[in-house]
Amino acid sequence: MQHRIVVLGAGYTGAVAAGRLAKRLHREDVAITLVNAEPDFVERVRMHQVATGQDLKPRPFSEMFAGTGVDVRLAQVTGVDVDRKTVAVIDANGEGQLPYDTLVYALGSRWNAQGVPGTAEHAQEIASRPGALRLRERLARLDAGQSVVVVGGGLTGLEAATEIAEARPDLDVALAARDGLGDWLSPKGREHLRKVFGKLGITAYEHAAVTGVEADRVTTADGTAIPAAVTVWTAGFAVHPIAKATALEVTGSGQIVVDGTMRSVSHPDVYAIGDAAMVMGPGDKPLRMSCASGTPTAWQAADVIAARLTGGKLPNVSIRYFNQCISLGRKEGLIQYVTADDRAVQAVLTGRLAAVYKELICKSAAWGVANPTLGLPTRRRRVTRERAAAGSAVKASA
Ligand SMILES: Cc1cc2nc3c(=O)[nH]c(=O)nc-3n(C[C@H](O)[C@H](O)[C@H](O)COP(=O)(O)OP(=O)(O)OC[C@H]3O[C@@H](n4cnc5c(N)ncnc54)[C@H](O)[C@@H]3O)c2cc1C
Repeated sequence: MQHRIVVLGAGYTGAVAAGRLAKRLHREDVAITLVNAEPDFVERVRMHQVATGQDLKPRPFSEMFAGTGVDVRLAQVTGVDVDRKTVAVIDANGEGQLPYDTLVYALGSRWNAQGVPGTAEHAQEIASRPGALRLRERLARLDAGQSVVVVGGGLTGLEAATEIAEARPDLDVALAARDGLGDWLSPKGREHLRKVFGKLGITAYEHAAVTGVEADRVTTADGTAIPAAVTVWTAGFAVHPIAKATALEVTGSGQIVVDGTMRSVSHPDVYAIGDAAMVMGPGDKPLRMSCASGTPTAWQAADVIAARLTGGKLPNVSIRYFNQCISLGRKEGLIQYVTADDRAVQAVLTGRLAAVYKELICKSAAWGVANPTLGLPTRRRRVTRERAAAGSAVKASA
């Protein structure tokens, strides 16, 4: 019998973890199943580009994982029973159960309407591909002079507002931010951001917490009504409710609490990575939801699982920040260098060079996912440990 590793979610982190596990472990000893709701990889970091009419290269999992030993299962995960060690799924053939010995939970996140009245009914989101495609249709139907308000002054909001303003200079684009525009950036970074906003004609409403969304406007806490033929909601991400419905220890927001090896603190057979996990980073601060910090959590989980199964030394992948890479349309960008715990330092890279840098980062992240077992040393180790706990009789070390 093989040790069954089930990876839930084939986004930036789940796909990387599955590929890395396949590279590390001997095929005869493990059965790796990667479960995803969609048949191809979604480059979430480019959803603002999709919304403005740009088409992305299709990346079907069937091609990406061909010959890797990873079995890709197209199914919607509906629940996890961590006591019985099964995953409930639904696919074209109906409902089913997937048993596991080790689970890697990487279901990512979705948009977060934050309970603001009218948001669910009237706002558009770009945290998912269907959302980005709906926004694309809405934007295409707008006439010159009509208004678009992006709610949220974080990285996603800045990228969305600038992308829309650049692609549709005929529209009246505004951004509503709870705090000051880019106020976590260095002085040079803020200055550059304001310059680009000015060039693109984007109105910034600062210290403007949005408290209501209607079909044609948003309202801020001080009662200001901002006209919005289309509202784009980017104020935070929320994790899927699936983890919260299990016996796993989760935070109030539903992220799975893990230790430094990405292992659940309550259930040692479960690992969580990416947006779905609450991971403490440098400076004892929780990592923010991002590819930048999520990808190393996938490396860490895969290497730890392989080490625990094969009796190897536990690795300690460095998880720290280097920079925040912000696209400001296709021609402009801002690379804000940061400390290990994500605080801005003086140095920035701006302009076209920054746009090219950001593009390379996006391309290399997608390349890493699309080539799951390339570029890693082939060290397929035999499973020796923890097999008894998993109830699997696997071959002893070769
Ligand atoms: C517009 C936008 C721009 C961004 N820009 C950046 C950036 O520049 N830099 C950065 O670091 N981060 C950025 N992010 C954040 C980044 O995209 C996420 O942090 C990252 O995708 C998290 O990776 P993940 O693997 O945890 O989740 P995801 O990449 O979201 O993957 C989750 C996977 O699980 C699948 N799934 C979900 N639910 C189910 C289910 N029930 N059943 C089966 N499958 C399911 C999904 O289909 C998906 O394939 C951006 C996000 C957005 C929306």
